[in-house]
Amino acid sequence: MTVSPRPRSSLAVALLLVVSVAACDRPARRQASLIVTGGDVVTMDGSRRILSPGAVAVDGTTIVAVDTPEAIARAFAAAETIDAAGHVVLPGLINTHTHAPMVMYRGLADDLALMDWLNKYIFPAEAKTVSPEMVRIGTRLAALEMIESGTTTFADMYYFEEEIARAVKAAGLRGVLGETIIGFPVADAKTPADSLARAEAFIREFQHDDLITPAPAPHSPYTVDEPTLRAIRALADRYHVPILTHLAETEDEVRIIEERHKLTPAAWLESIGFLGPNVLAAHGVWLTDADIAILARTGTAVSHNPESNMKLASGTAPVTKLRGAGVPVGLGTDGAASNNDLDMFEAMRQAAFLHKLVSKDPQAVPAAAALEMATRDGAKALGLQSTIGSLEVGKRADLIVVAMNGARQTPMYNPVSHLVYVAHGDDVRSTVVNGRVLMRDRRVRTLDERVVLADARALAAKVRAAVSATR
Ligand SMILES: [Zn+2]
Repeated sequence: MTVSPRPRSSLAVALLLVVSVAACDRPARRQASLIVTGGDVVTMDGSRRILSPGAVAVDGTTIVAVDTPEAIARAFAAAETIDAAGHVVLPGLINTHTHAPMVMYRGLADDLALMDWLNKYIFPAEAKTVSPEMVRIGTRLAALEMIESGTTTFADMYYFEEEIARAVKAAGLRGVLGETIIGFPVADAKTPADSLARAEAFIREFQHDDLITPAPAPHSPYTVDEPTLRAIRALADRYHVPILTHLAETEDEVRIIEERHKLTPAAWLESIGFLGPNVLAAHGVWLTDADIAILARTGTAVSHNPESNMKLASGTAPVTKLRGAGVPVGLGTDGAASNNDLDMFEAMRQAAFLHKLVSKDPQAVPAAAALEMATRDGAKALGLQSTIGSLEVGKRADLIVVAMNGARQTPMYNPVSHLVYVAHGDDVRSTVVNGRVLMRDRRVRTLDERVVLADARALAAKVRAAVSATR
């Protein structure tokens, strides 16, 4: 038996025509994975465009549009939408210097100068407690703190860096991670040669990773000898990876290098061919004008860590001179044992305040400069300026949403001023890295907060026991 099709009513045909004409008039909306809409969008692009309000569309890992909320709504449909009304949207903050697992030593020894702090407390504590397990637990705690306070990329220098890389990837953060090389036996290597071999294995494992940039991290010019520094430079050249190190942090360091080599730390590193555009030097507190010229000439970048420098009474880095000379200057917290947190909003505010005070010039580091150091200049210091550091089409979707509708943030005349002089890490509502929402409305999706904190507290009991046995 055959079934004849039911004749269409003329009304249905007319309706169909109307619908298809309307569809032709309005092009289909492009599918995006995420839209963040309605907030003030501080792009940190070349012209420092701020859209009030604005919206950002993300497809996969990449920003596909930055425009008005209406334009984005017309052009895109998204699987997930974050309403940022009353908030500020900006590039994720970039912490250019930390030692993530050192959150486990937070508050263990305060109010000391660097050399006493290192030699009497930190190095002995590390000798007794650093292990793959400690590094995993510490990194998860640090990652939780960073996601909650709006850091999306960080530069790290520590031991068992492959464990750190795995924990960072699982948390969804972006990291330039440096395996430490130092001139005495440490938890993950007996000799600098062992550390170098570890660094190379680490680089080979992660060199093509989307989130992790592996690096060798010689501790400093005073704790690593010349043949090892030359070997590290060769390793970095062979694999085209950055080098992370400490440089000119204290007057003691300058004196030690002067006695050994009759040169400043920067001049000595230049004389052995160590410096270059892929080197990020943390601190740079005691750089001379000639040293600043060396860094500018070699393309070496600096991480400024105002809170650590103040707390350890190391001194004040010549940040305005460095920036004036064209040296890329990022902002860092340093490890949480010398700060004592990983909040980049505080780092921005302290950088702005410190240089005003020391130079007696309120223009020394204005709010806009502090925000630049924590975003686009930090990206440049890490060699990642083509992928992160600003909200622009084609860049990776690393962004944060910061609440600006509470009593403390009201009224808001200028979002850049508020980000530096008012906002705290706790004001961050949502954190996105590589297009993935790691935290939404203060709920972290990639880490189980209760487990992370319980593990850290259990490990802290072991750290306390190990340190009291040392004293
Ligand atoms: Zn450091």
